[in-house]
Amino acid sequence: MTSFSDVDDDPPPDGEEWGAPEGWVCPVPDAVDLVVESGAMLAVFAAEQYRRVEWMRREALADAARHGYQLTEVIERSVRLELAAALSITEYSAGALIAQADALVNRYPAVLDVLGRAGITQRHATELATALDGVEPEFRDRLLTPALALAESLPVGTFRRKLRALVDTVRAVTLTERHEHALGARRVVLETVEDGMAWLHQYLPAVEAHAGYSRLTAQAKILAARPGETRTLDQLRADVLGDLLIDGVTDTLPPDARGIRATVAVTVPALALQGADPDGIATVEGIGPIPMSRARELCGGAHGWMRVLTHPETGIVLSVGRKRYRPPPQLARLVRWRAENCMAPGCRIPAARCELDHTLAWHHGGPTALTNLTPLCTGHHTVKHHGRWRVEQIEGSGGAILWTSPTGRHYRVQPERHTPTFTTTADAPPPF
Ligand SMILES: [Zn+2]
Repeated sequence: MTSFSDVDDDPPPDGEEWGAPEGWVCPVPDAVDLVVESGAMLAVFAAEQYRRVEWMRREALADAARHGYQLTEVIERSVRLELAAALSITEYSAGALIAQADALVNRYPAVLDVLGRAGITQRHATELATALDGVEPEFRDRLLTPALALAESLPVGTFRRKLRALVDTVRAVTLTERHEHALGARRVVLETVEDGMAWLHQYLPAVEAHAGYSRLTAQAKILAARPGETRTLDQLRADVLGDLLIDGVTDTLPPDARGIRATVAVTVPALALQGADPDGIATVEGIGPIPMSRARELCGGAHGWMRVLTHPETGIVLSVGRKRYRPPPQLARLVRWRAENCMAPGCRIPAARCELDHTLAWHHGGPTALTNLTPLCTGHHTVKHHGRWRVEQIEGSGGAILWTSPTGRHYRVQPERHTPTFTTTADAPPPF
């Protein structure tokens, strides 16, 4: 490497010295920097390709118009063929490329600009354009800025989910109306297929569908655990449902599997529940927004619903401090619910299948508390303990985890949901 003293240059002006300030070290890119840099190049080139593809399409249309051809459809077909042949890709891929170029250049130039600066990846850009194209035009302007902010800050998988939630939220103003309309189409469809089999489909509100499926799964799992049971979980679910539909009972179930009711978490802003905030949005875990009228019904005493109000509510054990290592079930459930997935960067393993990790290890004095517990899948749990990563829960963040890699880079993982903020009043017993 060339050091500053080797550089042959004009002599410095009087009274000044060439060279770096004392202690300054020329930054040398490491292996991760080099990969990141090539990723940035791909983004810049992708943006440029979109501009050129759109320009090619326009040129072809203009050229055809000059020659008196008016059939836009035929010309676009021809452009697609040309592009596929020139790039050695399928016509299907070429068609997708043209459609994406059209969307980004003509409808979402702000997204294309960010891609051109390598602020997002090509995947982010195409996901964003597809999502915006999928909503009613009146919502697009309101979505663009927050959606772009998400794209710039989140890995693509998380971004896709957050974007869907954002779209749902923005469209929620028309949710009640859309739901009412869709509800009218509820039905059961019988579809006979080969091998003496048939499908029975039910089109019903998502809340009931999820609740029913969870109940079938819970009962099937109990059956699966019995000695000698050889049926798969899929087969057991089908058998339990069949019994319920045909006889209305599940006599084949052992007593401990009867009467199981599904538990679904519904999050409702407390003020909206009382009718004080008409714009409040209720969401159901794994489903998305539901009409507020349904949420009121669900929270109005029906059992089997874990109510998580986004408002201080007492009663949930948030910490058992150093009293015990294993979190009590309610706390464990809240930790998993908050994160939804393993809290390693980009990991999509559901929290239900994760281990609960004391972020600050128990043997280093870490408490068993909401502020020190997070779900990690087995693989990432191992990486945390043996992989030279530093992992911390960011104080006051509501469960965000900061991962510091062996090369010193920081990755922040935000939990899926916010837990209510709890305050301890003077006369309440201390949490631990
Ligand atoms: Zn993981």
